[in-house]
Amino acid sequence: MNMEARIRGIGMTSPRTRMRLVDRLRAAGICDENVLQAIADVPRHCFVDEAMASRAYDDCSLPIGEGQTISQPYVVALMTELVVNSGFNGRPIQKVLEIGTGSGYQAAVLSKLVPKVYTLERIRTLAHRSGDRLRQLGLRNIRTRYVDGIEGWSEHGPFDAVIVTAAMETVPQALIDQVVDGGVLVGPIGAPDGAQQLATMRCQAGQAPRLQKVEDVRFVPFLSGKC
Ligand code: SAH
Repeated sequence: MNMEARIRGIGMTSPRTRMRLVDRLRAAGICDENVLQAIADVPRHCFVDEAMASRAYDDCSLPIGEGQTISQPYVVALMTELVVNSGFNGRPIQKVLEIGTGSGYQAAVLSKLVPKVYTLERIRTLAHRSGDRLRQLGLRNIRTRYVDGIEGWSEHGPFDAVIVTAAMETVPQALIDQVVDGGVLVGPIGAPDGAQQLATMRCQAGQAPRLQKVEDVRFVPFLSGKC
């Protein structure tokens, strides 16, 4: 039996459970109905360990092994809203690069809304596990790679948006360089154990990125090197 079927058997995936999460996100201020639909469509219980499946539709972050976490659904929804609504004059976002695949959940949510999603992960076991999971779920518009994401993925760039899901003390220049002229980089900025803020940086040729703070968050650190 595949993972979905097995967990469906223990009643974790009822539409009611998922809709409760969507209602909670709506109440917390997420208002893009397409984003809420994507959250309703992606089976978050498939992105966590079976032992944790009963908590998959709570609005909280959960451990995914290797000291890393799957982000809180509210934060995933918020970052997704920032990405998909970042196009100039309502221009749709066609191509996104994510740094920090982790469980693959954020990439899966984005894949419902953006034609092409590229995602990078520096921890081997997470990269392979999430790659397999995304394939099993049939999300064919996501390309994954096991690599230190600090250099981005220039062969496929530039990207309409870059999303970083680990806290950066400074934003790597290569990532800024791979955002299209006028596009955004979205991610948490701050020290690993200090204050961190989710921010958007609008990147325009010949100018320093324009930073806008969104809200306080807590993320695992952006680290260098593969392991
Ligand atoms: N987006 C993930 C959240 C994962 S937590 C999800 O939806 O589950 C952040 C992830 O960023 C961790 O898996 C961590 O290993 C990864 N990460 C941190 N620094 C990185 C880097 N330089 N390159 C690639 N991945 C990195």
